[in-house]
Amino acid sequence: MSRLYLVGTPIGNLGDLSPRAVEVLGGVDFIAAEDTRVTLKLLNHFGIKKPLVSYYAHNLRERGQVIVARILAGERCAIVTDAGMPCISDPGEDLVRLCAEAGVPVEAVPGPSAAVTALAVSGLPTSRFAFEGFLSVKRNSRTAHLAQVKDDPRTLIFYEAPHKLLATLNDLLEAFGNRRISLARELTKLHEEVRRTTLSEAVEWYAEHPPRGEFVLVVEGAQVRLDEPPTLEEAVELVQALAAGGMSLSDAAKEAARQTGYKKGELYKHSLNVPVPEQEG
Ligand code: SAM
Repeated sequence: MSRLYLVGTPIGNLGDLSPRAVEVLGGVDFIAAEDTRVTLKLLNHFGIKKPLVSYYAHNLRERGQVIVARILAGERCAIVTDAGMPCISDPGEDLVRLCAEAGVPVEAVPGPSAAVTALAVSGLPTSRFAFEGFLSVKRNSRTAHLAQVKDDPRTLIFYEAPHKLLATLNDLLEAFGNRRISLARELTKLHEEVRRTTLSEAVEWYAEHPPRGEFVLVVEGAQVRLDEPPTLEEAVELVQALAAGGMSLSDAAKEAARQTGYKKGELYKHSLNVPVPEQEG
């Protein structure tokens, strides 16, 4: 049945192309590729011969319409990018939207993504994270972006090109202060490396050792300042206030226990020794 397949491709190691991805790429009518030369190498490696159309940042508007029309006419198309998952800082988002609008089924054939792979090996909290992609090269947008995420407690993930890495590390240090960072370089490739350090140490290191290869930056989120838990004295005061408002001492202790985390019996016992303030009126 005609549809669009989103096919994840390796971020380095060709062994990461799944058997299902090979099957789907071999079974579609045509493949939309970010760079047809890069995809041709991948297809040749797996002995797949398919017509390719280029689909990249500067032609996606008109090319997207053509691709959707072909799928609506009964063809099956796979979209791939140079590496990783389509749509993640890569072409694809627009095509998926067009397909959704036209009622064309979209099926994912998931593969590796540098962002999630770098997060997994970072050693930083993984339960909540925010993918921030590439920072803009425009100074104003860059500063605004960093200001927007500065107080985000989630682990932050950025992509960066090696020649901009040092400037970006300096900007992160200036915007966030000295946080922990994990720099994942050349994941799944021969020179794979994960450097778990701090922003200031990373700045020093890369000022001395010019970065090479592809990088993902995984940065610790903002520290959340939890409110101080109430003291026992404050919790007992709450029991007194609730009792003064008309609750029985037992109910007041129960409610204060719920609000403060202290045990009801403990609050009740301490409250017995404190005279209940007179009710007003
Ligand atoms: N769609 C891709 C994905 O799902 O990972 C990302 C494409 S984006 C244009 C390219 C960026 O991903 C690179 O600049 C780098 O930040 C990161 N990247 C891709 N492959 C990588 C690798 N093997 N190791 C580290 N980072 C990588």
